[in-house]
Order: sequence, then C-alpha cells, then structure tokens
Amino acid sequence: MRVELITIGDELLLGFTIDTNSAFLGRELAGLGIEIHRRTTVGDDRAAIAQAVREALDRADGVITTGGLGPTSDDVTMEAVAAALGVELERNEAIVARLEEIWRSRGRSEKLPPANLSQAMLPRGAIILPNNHGTAPGAFVERADKRWVAVLPGVPREMREMFNGSVRDVLAARAPGGTVVRSLAVRTTGIPESRLPALLAELADGVDGMSLAYLPSVEGVDLRLTARGSRPAAADERLRAAARKLSARLEPYAYAEGTTDLAEVVLEACRRAGRRLAVAESCTGGMLGQRLTAIAGSSEVFAGGVIAYDNEVKIELLGVDREQLERHGAVSEEVVTAMATGAKRRFGVDVGVAVTGIAGPGGGSADKPVGTVWIAVATADEIVARQLRLFGDRDEVRRRAAQAALDLVRRSSAGNLGT
Ligand code: ATP
Repeated sequence: MRVELITIGDELLLGFTIDTNSAFLGRELAGLGIEIHRRTTVGDDRAAIAQAVREALDRADGVITTGGLGPTSDDVTMEAVAAALGVELERNEAIVARLEEIWRSRGRSEKLPPANLSQAMLPRGAIILPNNHGTAPGAFVERADKRWVAVLPGVPREMREMFNGSVRDVLAARAPGGTVVRSLAVRTTGIPESRLPALLAELADGVDGMSLAYLPSVEGVDLRLTARGSRPAAADERLRAAARKLSARLEPYAYAEGTTDLAEVVLEACRRAGRRLAVAESCTGGMLGQRLTAIAGSSEVFAGGVIAYDNEVKIELLGVDREQLERHGAVSEEVVTAMATGAKRRFGVDVGVAVTGIAGPGGGSADKPVGTVWIAVATADEIVARQLRLFGDRDEVRRRAAQAALDLVRRSSAGNLGT
C-alpha cells in the first residue's frame, strides 16, 4: 500500500515548527509494513492544500494530512480535503453537541462562537476520528475507488493519540500480506563508533538477515536493528534474539535495549542491590540529579545531591580537605574521591557519585586541558575514580561527563570495571 503524507502549516514552512509529525508517522507506518512514498508540506492555504491532496491521491492509495483543524480562519484543511474529493462539507450534530459540552465545562456562560462551529463541518461520508485531547475531530474519508484521506490534527499529542486510537487499526487491516518493518536498538556507551565493528566482527553489517545502523550521539552509540518482511510477532522475536546476540558481543558497553535511559538502568541496579544513591556535582551542575529524578519512582533509590561548584561548597558541604584542594586542584583524583565519599557520608547512603571537570571554553591548562573530567563512585567496598578526556563544546562535555558518571555506577554495581 502506497501512502503519502501532507503536513500543513505556515509555521512548518517558516521553520518555526519542526515537523515531528512526519517523523512519528513515518516510523509508525513502517512498523505496520506501509510504505511512505512522498512527504509534502504546504502552508495554510486552501487551494494549495486541495491541490496537494488531489495530486497525492493520483499517485497513492491513501493520504494522511496533519494540521489546520483549529477554529481560526487559517485552519482550512477540512474544506480543502472536501474540495479535493469533490464532496460537500456537512455539519455533524454529534460534534456540535460535544463542542458545546466542552465549552460549558470550561465555565463559559455565553454560546459557542460560530468560529468554533467550523470544527463540526466534515466532508460528506467521513468517519469521525475522535479527539480525546483537543476540540478538533479528525476524519477518515474514502472515495468510491477505495482511495482514502485521513485528516489528523497538527498538535503532536492530539495527532499521536488519534493515530494510535483509530487510524492504526484501520490501516493495519488494509496492509498487504501483514508483514512489517520493525526496529530495536541496543544502546552502548563508553566506546567510540569506530571501535564497534572490530568488536562486533561478523555481526558488524547485520544480524541474521536484519540490517544494522550505527547512531552515535553525545551519550553513546545506539545500534539499531531493523527487521523486514516478517509478521509482527515474528519480527519482534527475531529482533529480541538478535539484540541479545549483539548485547553479549558488546559487553561491557551495552546497557539497555530500546529507548531506556542509562539513569533508569542505574536506579534499577541499585534497587536490586538494596542500595541508595547520592551525588556531588561540580561541572555537571545538577545534570545527574536531573537524569535520575526524570525516572518515575527514583525516590526509592536516589536521596539527593550537592551542586558543589564553588570550592568552599566542596569543603563546607562535602568535607573536602582544603589543603588537598589547594595542592591538587579541584579537578583531581583526590578531590573527586573526597567529593564522592563526602556525598555518601553526608546523605547517609550506600553509593556516592561525584563529577568535577573543566567544561570550557576557558579554564584549561597544559596538563589539564578543557575536557579533563574526573568521576568517582564510593561504596562501602570500594572507591573508584576515573580521569576522562572529553571532547566537544561546554554542553557536550557536561553531558558526556554525566553519562560517564552514571556508567561508572552501573559498571561498579555489576562488578564490571575492567576496561
Ligand atoms: P488546533 O486544534 O490546536 O488548532 P490544528 O490541527 O489546527 O490544531 P495547527 O494549528 O496546524 O493544528 O498546529 C497547532 C500546533 O501544532 C502548531 O503550533 C505546532 O506547534 C504543532 N504542529 C503542527 N503541525 C506540526 C507538525 N507537522 N509537526 C510538529 N508539530 C506540529
């Protein structure tokens, strides 16, 4: 089945809104085994939208549009789609009743303004796609020749809910052969992309007929497996088996599958070991705390932290020795170790994690250039410190440092500090 996407909005053309709807729909349709043949973006212009829909319908079996369903005069998608299909717009009384109910529930005493009623106008013969997160309903319209148009809202959350709630099943039922394109990523950190092929050996170009893509980012490299030509359950099974193979080959760098964040892996490891965690952050300025508290339920494991940016804070709140600080400098093994043990003691927890470094652009020297970072983990059994030489701008150095510190906790919990 050939499908085309049309995203609608002046803001998209101007570059003020990034077209994340296309990215979402591209991924989801591939997962259903449906090919997107073309993507078009047009402004809030009735004639341009109608022409784009007409042209797309000449080429494809179906067209999905997003955007332009609001109550304002620049929201003209329904009119344009009706025109492209050569049908009238009809007022739908069930939608009018729902719009009035929403209007009243928002405490408005006056009547629903006529502009809002435009959202109750749908192309004749359309199936209503309910919008549970906004006012504008979507529509699914089929022509006599079975070619169809699905009209979805622009607001990403509303669009996603509508796609998942009503469009996905309709399209899945029409997809030929029932085969899908599905992906699963194995996430790694602490190893550069260039070293992965040697480690992967014969798996470097693909695993059991599935292709492999290398996706490097500041946090690490994701290895995305893609399975084509299988039915959904078989595709998932093939992906899981291949991901297990990859992860085993990528020890100790692989930390998760899918989209799981390293912070979640760290929290889970601590939870299983019955350990609580505290942090002492200098150059990362709270990034570790942010990453950990972004995970629901983190309070069970994460006690808190100190942003020990100024040296006096390192001394006063973490008990770092003034003389050590002056002798070795704030970015040193002695200080990072004292910060980690200080956090552990101060918060009365089992694991203390510390980061101190030079994020740049200033502050570097010949023996401690920008990007020099020390990280440490202190537990009852051991204190581990590592010096890193990170590259990138200030933001990248800070993010790489936070990731490396989390990874040191993961690997120390797993007893896997070797390489
Ligand atoms: P509403 O009911 O809110 O008016 P709508 O269907 O009319 O929804 P638009 O007015 O086109 O949607 O867009 C609303 C907002 O949704 C835009 O300001 C933009 O932030 C976001 N948006 C629209 N299209 C896209 C897109 N393709 N990708 C990402 N965001 C989008």
